[in-house]
Amino acid sequence: MYQVERYHDISCGHRVFGHESKCAHLHGHNYRIHFTIEPDNRQLDLIGRVLDFSVIKTRLCEWLEKWWDHKMLIWVDDPYLDDLLDMDPDGVVPVEFNPTAENMAKYLVETIGPRELEGTGCVLVSCRIDETRKCSATYKVD
Ligand SMILES: [Zn+2]
Repeated sequence: MYQVERYHDISCGHRVFGHESKCAHLHGHNYRIHFTIEPDNRQLDLIGRVLDFSVIKTRLCEWLEKWWDHKMLIWVDDPYLDDLLDMDPDGVVPVEFNPTAENMAKYLVETIGPRELEGTGCVLVSCRIDETRKCSATYKVD
């Protein structure tokens, strides 16, 4: 089975609502986000690729640049959300999940991958999010 991977780096703020210690504060990370892609039909294209790397860039990396880079991800159930939106309506991104690396990876695989890769014949099968150089979380399709 063939897979291709590409990563992209963004700077992004969040807080983990309900966290027992310092991750409950507003803070951010220089995230490295790794995308893994497979062909739907398990075949390479006519010239021997899963998907051109430039397509991963324009569809997935640029999505990150537009929606998450230099933004603050805040869960819609977080009591800080309304105040933060008042302060920086363009910089705060309400998300449907508590923004841990695990939930961010799941959202990218389940929601953004299918939407952004539609028509390419490829599937985003896994996403690994490095929150620091030492710590990462991965979500994979079953
Ligand atoms: Zn954090």
